[in-house]
Amino acid sequence: MLDRFTIHQPQSVEEASEMLARFGPDAAVYAGGTELLIVMKERLAHFPHLMDIKRIPGLNALVYDAERRELVIGAVACHRDLERSPEVRDRLPALAALEAAVANVRVRNAGTIGGNLCFAEPHSDPATLLTALDARLTLVAATGTRQIPMASFITGLMETVRRHDEILVSITVPEPAANSGVAYERFKLHERPTAAVAAVITVVEGTIADARIVAGSVGVRPQRLLGTEVMLRGLPAMETSAVTVADFIRDEVEVTGNLFESDPYTRQLARTVGRRAIAAAIRRATGEEGGRLAA
Ligand SMILES: Cc1cc2nc3c(=O)[nH]c(=O)nc-3n(C[C@H](O)[C@H](O)[C@H](O)COP(=O)(O)OP(=O)(O)OC[C@H]3O[C@@H](n4cnc5c(N)ncnc54)[C@H](O)[C@@H]3O)c2cc1C
Repeated sequence: MLDRFTIHQPQSVEEASEMLARFGPDAAVYAGGTELLIVMKERLAHFPHLMDIKRIPGLNALVYDAERRELVIGAVACHRDLERSPEVRDRLPALAALEAAVANVRVRNAGTIGGNLCFAEPHSDPATLLTALDARLTLVAATGTRQIPMASFITGLMETVRRHDEILVSITVPEPAANSGVAYERFKLHERPTAAVAAVITVVEGTIADARIVAGSVGVRPQRLLGTEVMLRGLPAMETSAVTVADFIRDEVEVTGNLFESDPYTRQLARTVGRRAIAAAIRRATGEEGGRLAA
């Protein structure tokens, strides 16, 4: 049973922000509601005022900026929009594939990318890949706008840098370079993933010139594996390099214990999905697997 609440339908982001500031902790942003309404139903929190931001014009747009070579994703675009968008499928097929595997079709139809990131649940799939892709989030309040790298948006367990009166309006994802490959691999037994790794690998003349490797679902927030990245740089752009660093991933990843999996088992899962993600990203960067960015 839900306690009573009022749904407000602001017509602009600024109006929504002003309302959030006015109602303070009694108010929350309401997008798809797939997380928020469960929290309220379970009486873990109650917000007498919900700001429904879905009707604000333009907040669900998906636009490719050809000049800047960036994809700009409106925060209320739902997972299904991303999964089906020709722009996302063409420019970031790994993201389209990830989105197609989030939850089930009912959740994907209602749940938004912005709600997923702002809720900062540790098992978020998009947060892991968007960190590896070096995405930027645009937060707007009535008092001003700021951009935050995805890598510093989530600060802890279900905690972000977002201020109460700020609305996440869009996520900007740079298109990976032509000599880069992108891959995301996860292991999932429960409702959400147990371990995931995203890899973006750049290859120059047969050698790994750059790597961004991010582990998700195993700790409280997505974590960049900087030691693994250093190890990868300079290795040959061959699948064997993924095997070379696999044990290092297992040892570097920070694991937060959970009820179902032991820490050593979780580390082993991170090792496996990490090896697979890096191998796939290398294949895509070298054009061995259906084009450089194939999902
Ligand atoms: C059964 C189930 C399975 C799932 N499986 C997966 C999975 O496999 N992988 C995965 O990644 N996720 C999974 N999810 C999570 C799902 O992706 C999220 O529930 C969904 O994307 C949240 O979006 P929403 O629009 O419903 O958020 P809401 O519930 O509306 O909001 C969530 C939180 O974010 C805040 N918020 C929402 N939008 C904004 C905004 N634009 N600006 C500021 N604050 C905002 C709200 O105030 C609230 O605190 C699953 C969820 C369920 C219920």
